[in-house]
Amino acid sequence: MKQALSDFSLSELEEIVAAAGEKKYRAGQLMRHIVAYDSFDEYTDLPKSFIAYLKERYIDRPLTEKTRVTASDGAVRYLFETASGDLIESVFLPHGYGNSVCVSCQVGCAMGCVFCASGEFGLKRNLTAGEILAQVLFIAREVKDKGGVKKIVMMGSGSPLHNYEQTVKFVKLVTSPQGINIGMRSISVSTCGLPDKIDMLYKDGFSGTLSLSLHAATDTKRIKIMKIAERYTVKQLVDALKRFFDNTGRRVVIEYILIGGFNDTEEDAVALKNLLKGLCCHVNLIPLNPTDNCDLKPSSRKNADAFCKTLCRLGLSATVRRSMGSDVAGACGQLKNRTVMLEKKEGGVRP
Ligand code: SAH
Repeated sequence: MKQALSDFSLSELEEIVAAAGEKKYRAGQLMRHIVAYDSFDEYTDLPKSFIAYLKERYIDRPLTEKTRVTASDGAVRYLFETASGDLIESVFLPHGYGNSVCVSCQVGCAMGCVFCASGEFGLKRNLTAGEILAQVLFIAREVKDKGGVKKIVMMGSGSPLHNYEQTVKFVKLVTSPQGINIGMRSISVSTCGLPDKIDMLYKDGFSGTLSLSLHAATDTKRIKIMKIAERYTVKQLVDALKRFFDNTGRRVVIEYILIGGFNDTEEDAVALKNLLKGLCCHVNLIPLNPTDNCDLKPSSRKNADAFCKTLCRLGLSATVRRSMGSDVAGACGQLKNRTVMLEKKEGGVRP
């Protein structure tokens, strides 16, 4: 399989240019086309022979649009097809203070959380950094007259820390001043919780926002909804987050899905408060978005608000997340699953 040009940093492009016998400044030209998500036809300032050389070896646009759905609030959910024929989802979220893009980092997901549509068919493969970046570049091109893209959330399909190397490479590419130049502080990485990778992340220079999908305050409860809880305890995760904060000074985010009658009582709120003692964090409460293959129910709005109030009374910083795009199959992986169902294609296999 040919590699996407968006996989390369400027210094790597310089090597490509040198290997083709072209002048060094061509790398800068190439980078501008990559950032603009141009097709080879649009590389008009490069010699035809060089374009032919590139065409033979590399991919200009690693993603093509398969379909898109626009929600009433302006959020757009894209279904992209990769060069290998895999389908991935990305979401554009318009905000007055800076538009954001939610990217996927894997085709499917290995984590098997019971409430999540992305993991329903297991993991098929990791995306490359260039394929993750292409989701941002594609959408940035679409919205360049509407303020462009200012923020990235790695909250699409897949588990960023389970595709660690490409995630770190993606963060480097997307924050590069020679590239699309998104601020590090405008990047959020969400994880179901791999403590050793959390430690690697700050050591490798990530100082954006780290979000932990906690969803339950005790191991007994977490095991019921998240397979990964069999490997790591909630205490191990909170300790890793404390180290992340000590090393980056960045407040972390705790994501907590509210599931009716499962984790939304006063007792659950107290357990959460006790678990998070001493951690500088904000708790993001997410009413469960029901998916086709799971019979869990969201908490009522009243219970969600009461849970949030209790946390605040206990001294935590907490809000109930405003859910965008839920009228367009808002939860991870749902658009893909519905499209795939329609087409009767197969997904991956859970290892
Ligand atoms: N794979 C990443 C990002 C997942 S999506 C991770 O595990 O953190 C972002 C958040 O939405 C996560 O906290 C995830 O657990 C949550 N989520 C997944 N399915 C959901 C659903 N059906 N309803 C509400 N939130 C969901």
